[in-house]
Amino acid sequence: MDKRLSSHKATMEVVNKHGFRFSKSLGQNFLIDDNIIDKIVEGANAGKNDKIIEVGPGIGTLTRALASKSEKVLVVEIDKSLIPILEDTLSDFDNIKVVNEDIIKADVKTLIDQNLDGGPVKLVANLPYYITTPIIMRFLEESINVSDIVVMVQKEVAERMNAKPGKKDFGALSVAVQYYCDTEIVAKVPRHLFVPQPNVDSIVIALRVRPEKKYKVDNEELFFKAVKAAFGQRRKTLLNSLTSMGILDKSKISEVLLESNIDEKRRGETLSLEEFASLANNINKKLEGE
Ligand code: SAM
Repeated sequence: MDKRLSSHKATMEVVNKHGFRFSKSLGQNFLIDDNIIDKIVEGANAGKNDKIIEVGPGIGTLTRALASKSEKVLVVEIDKSLIPILEDTLSDFDNIKVVNEDIIKADVKTLIDQNLDGGPVKLVANLPYYITTPIIMRFLEESINVSDIVVMVQKEVAERMNAKPGKKDFGALSVAVQYYCDTEIVAKVPRHLFVPQPNVDSIVIALRVRPEKKYKVDNEELFFKAVKAAFGQRRKTLLNSLTSMGILDKSKISEVLLESNIDEKRRGETLSLEEFASLANNINKKLEGE
């Protein structure tokens, strides 16, 4: 059965029936467009054997579309006033589990073990924008068994995740995401396709998590520290920004840059991920040799 909620009228009927009040601080902007819902489901390649985790189902608009294509959907919603609404709007499905938790605090691995046979899962969501990056980085960094992340985020955030070296949007977030994933823009979503209408436009982006690491990094903590330093002071040369990490003096950083075949006058935003990896590995070697 495909009873859609994704029109302004259907959404407001549900909202009014339950006396629901939108919370701005929880990022509650509900999607009201069938076409975008379909693009998200297609972007996730949702199929009968797929286990899906959706963060922030709202009134269940996207959830219904995902559940009709996949094996099981686990939804995690922080707002307890949405739980009785979801019980109502999702009552004709038997493959959806609703959990009332904060995704930042939830034990996601255990939730996946208990409800989705340990995965692999696809994270599919129209994310609350105030915590987009922490949610995505939790899934990538905490070795959660996730194969695809297909999420609606603020346009500028998607552009940063998708940016290539040398482009103006390329930054620490681009490196962090592309270290784990191949990225792909799925759809551009103007602000008028939400109720209430937000102040920003959105993009649906797909992050395909690579099963194997593409970049050889000996010390991940150091790699991310170097990336952060390289982008921390954008106008500084690499020689100066890396020295400001305070772990090697300027002459040693100069040696490391030479060993990595990177001109010390370059700036962080021009480095490829391979170059960042080689740089971090050479800093690591130097530290170990000290
Ligand atoms: N999926 C719905 C849609 O597309 O219309 C709603 C998306 S709305 C942008 C974000 C949703 O995330 C809201 O339902 C909100 O209550 C929920 N949310 C906000 N913070 C959350 C958190 N920390 N953990 C889980 N859900 C959260």
